[in-house]
Amino acid sequence: MVTTNICKCCFKTFTLDTIHSLMKETNYLCRKCQEQLIQLNLKGKEKGFKITFLYEYSAFFREILFRYKGCGDLELAPIFLDYYANYIQYRFRNWLFILAPSSKERISARGFSHLEEILKPYHLNTFSGITKKQDFKQSDLSLEARQNILSKLEIIDGSKLSGKNAMIFDDVYTTGATIRAMIDLILPYQPRKIQVLVLAKVFKIDEE
Ligand SMILES: [Zn+2]
Repeated sequence: MVTTNICKCCFKTFTLDTIHSLMKETNYLCRKCQEQLIQLNLKGKEKGFKITFLYEYSAFFREILFRYKGCGDLELAPIFLDYYANYIQYRFRNWLFILAPSSKERISARGFSHLEEILKPYHLNTFSGITKKQDFKQSDLSLEARQNILSKLEIIDGSKLSGKNAMIFDDVYTTGATIRAMIDLILPYQPRKIQVLVLAKVFKIDEE
């Protein structure tokens, strides 16, 4: 039996033709789009904690993230973790996903929490108690201000993290300043474990 799907990115129809795609419950991208989403599955350390980068921050990634986050194309939410669906679902089901902060203004302007929507299909536990005190965009800040990001974040209900396996989750990693600030914020609440999961890592910073 051949199943025909419609690619959520380019809207072309496609059939499942790889072992990987046949083994998954859902497939949202055609092979061509999936191949442009460059898988890294790269591991590293941040403040001594394990960090995993799933994709390279390519022009394609930037474009789909903009369509999703900037233009509010909510249909794209499930494509970001789809390739890793089985891994995410089974490996992390006992983890609490700590969402990287957006300001309340930005979330209400967008109408949805973009990180929460990405995780939704996997029924994972999420924590959105880390927020920005005032609205600022990281790219607008000087290097010094970026290093000082900790002073701009706050945590509410941090006690919910005590004894939990805390998975810090963010979409794009540039300098790592936000991630380090999040680690500093949650450490006092003594989570059982801390790890970091990032969708895309920037390798070359555009000085536009
Ligand atoms: Zn496609």
